Amino acid sequence: MRPLFEDPPAVIADEIRRVVPPVEEILIQVKSDLGCDGRFGEPWVIVTPRRFALIDDGEEPLHVPLNAIRKARAEAIVGGGCLIIERIGEPAIQIPYTNSLVQTFGEVAVNLNLLLEGKPPVLPTQFDATRCRRCGRLLPERGGICPACIRKIDTLLRLLSYLRPYAKMAIALVVLTLASTLLDLAPPLIIRQIIDDVLTQRGEIGLLFQFAGALLGINILAWCAGVVRRWLNNSVGCRAAADLRMDLYRALQFLPLRFHEKRKVGSLVSRMTNDAELVEDYLSFDLPFILSNSLLFFGILLLLFVMNWRLACLVVLPIPVIVLVGSLLWRRLEGTWRRWSVRWSRLSSHLNESIKGIRVVKAFTREDYEARRFDSRNLLVMQASIAAERTCLVFFLVSNFVMSFGLFLVWYFGGLQIIRQELTLGALTAFIAYLWMVYQPLRWFGDFYSFMVRAFAGAERIFEVIDALPEPFKNPDAAPLAEMRGKVVFEDVAFGYDPGKPVLQGINFEVEAGEMIGLVGRSGAGKSTLINLVCRFYDITRGSIRVDDRDLRDIRLEDLRGSIGMVAQQTLLFSGTVAMNIAYGRPNASTAEIIEAARAANAHEFIIRLPDGYDYQVGENGNKFSGGEKQRIAIARAILQNPRILILDEATSSLDTATEHRIQEAIAHLVKGRTTFAIAHRLSTLRSADRLFLLDRGKIVETGTHAELIARRGQFYRLVQAYRKTVASIDIEDRKVPA
Ligand code: ADP
Repeated sequence: MRPLFEDPPAVIADEIRRVVPPVEEILIQVKSDLGCDGRFGEPWVIVTPRRFALIDDGEEPLHVPLNAIRKARAEAIVGGGCLIIERIGEPAIQIPYTNSLVQTFGEVAVNLNLLLEGKPPVLPTQFDATRCRRCGRLLPERGGICPACIRKIDTLLRLLSYLRPYAKMAIALVVLTLASTLLDLAPPLIIRQIIDDVLTQRGEIGLLFQFAGALLGINILAWCAGVVRRWLNNSVGCRAAADLRMDLYRALQFLPLRFHEKRKVGSLVSRMTNDAELVEDYLSFDLPFILSNSLLFFGILLLLFVMNWRLACLVVLPIPVIVLVGSLLWRRLEGTWRRWSVRWSRLSSHLNESIKGIRVVKAFTREDYEARRFDSRNLLVMQASIAAERTCLVFFLVSNFVMSFGLFLVWYFGGLQIIRQELTLGALTAFIAYLWMVYQPLRWFGDFYSFMVRAFAGAERIFEVIDALPEPFKNPDAAPLAEMRGKVVFEDVAFGYDPGKPVLQGINFEVEAGEMIGLVGRSGAGKSTLINLVCRFYDITRGSIRVDDRDLRDIRLEDLRGSIGMVAQQTLLFSGTVAMNIAYGRPNASTAEIIEAARAANAHEFIIRLPDGYDYQVGENGNKFSGGEKQRIAIARAILQNPRILILDEATSSLDTATEHRIQEAIAHLVKGRTTFAIAHRLSTLRSADRLFLLDRGKIVETGTHAELIARRGQFYRLVQAYRKTVASIDIEDRKVPA
């Protein structure tokens, strides 16, 4: 299948034949889902090596030779995008489309530009699906799973597969459940014997003792079975849920950055807490309840028909009504609980965001505003809960009401049979006892079903994460990298975070092992993106990146990232000791090695002044340290890891001269002999770099040493001049401040 080549209807095919000569190969043939006036329509875009054509229903076809086109762009607009064809000396052609075609038209623009530059087009062979192939609904994420098409039975089977490691316990549980069910069936039969054989006939006391003793014995056995069953329930359910949580956590760790960027932290956390707890409760309580009560339900029905089929028919009379009402309400319940789940995850996202950003909230005195926002989200969760609970209540009330008819019928017709001496009192009593045993679970099925729906919705949200495609971290096809030297080559690299919106284009460079490169450019030029590509946080759209003459995709990600060290602008410290944080990349490093790294990073002095020295607890996010201290710990971390490629993302915030000096010293120590990419803001870094790459709008526009670029008096020179002017004006402002 070629995603940029669709089959047109006959009318359009005729039009295409009219404007495209048969000798010209059609490279692209796609339709938009919006008319050129923004209304519904299906204009077709045709591209051949020589022309661009637009065929819109009811309009005269438009065709333009490629040499009359300057450029093609795909621009984002609200709800979708617009392909803009800039013509020479003529107004631009605009073709709008909805969000589901952003990738398609992004590729049309890219390939059209390649043709305009005289290069061969690189037509994609496959796109990630944006709509479900089965039901056609828009997928929550590209290439993801359609929540509407997940079958409940598949979710159940998958949940059951988590019981497999505890199969012995689970089988024991089923056997015990069967035994308990049989035991539960016995007492009404014995009661019948007591009434009919002893009480109504003034029978022997010995017989009464035997029957009462049997009742006691059965109750004791049932009690014992119940204790063991609960114990097993609990341990099987909790273990299976713990395994599920572990799978979810591992999946989260190995998922690509793209996945994490699309999700809010709170929504992922709510899967780990809320959804996993629902599944745990389902496996521990709900599933065993459904199993035992289903057995009991069918067991008793059978028994009732054997005992007295005419009365049994009366017993089952209300059941179809209950099932009908249930199935109508349950469908509604499913939607409500799914809504509850989504709203709950939004609430949890909000909580996470506002607690993490509490400093900002306080600084802007937005406490009340945040509380109001929380309130409105909380209200939505409450409304969903109430709607669901009400649905359950309706079921409960309706089923109770209908059941009372069953009870009336059995008492009345059963009583008639006794009067006509067709039935004994004992038999009727046993019948009524069974009747309650049939109705009781039916009444609670509503509640348990509602619980099951919630648990399934939770399980689906968990499986969605587990099933998302992980990074090829341990790709078996990728060869291990024995020893990296650190040569990095970019060849015609293009990349965009969103398909069809390139951020980097035509990036070409060769960096020798041990070279230090300073990346400079305005904010948003693509410096961080370039670094992300070296670490393979994202895969490139076009071109190739080679490390030590091997394509990045052929190197095991584990080895690649293991050889890259990073000192980021925002240093993240994990809760634990200072030593543990320094040894994060090499947990088995000795204390001596950790201290040596800290010394080299100029961090040793301040660490030993801490109350517990290297054993000092850094606290969450390392909040107890200053920016400069955190940075030096990060440098020590990188020194200890001893990477071949080093990524330095310099902090833009200015530090005091002494700290700055110490950090510079530490960095100088760190970069020695390693291939370094530094996003450089400080002049000292710019000077010490072997070469500078100046990026502008996703392209490298100037390269050379600091002196060369200054001498060239180009864009870099202007950037430095502007920077100096800003610094000078700050200096003057500073001097104006009265002492
Ligand atoms: P720089 O580091 O030079 O400031 P970046 O590489 O961070 O620039 O950003 C380059 C462009 O890519 C910007 O337009 C930015 O908005 C966009 N961008 C950066 N990160 C992402 C992302 N995760 N998702 C989408 N767009 C992004």
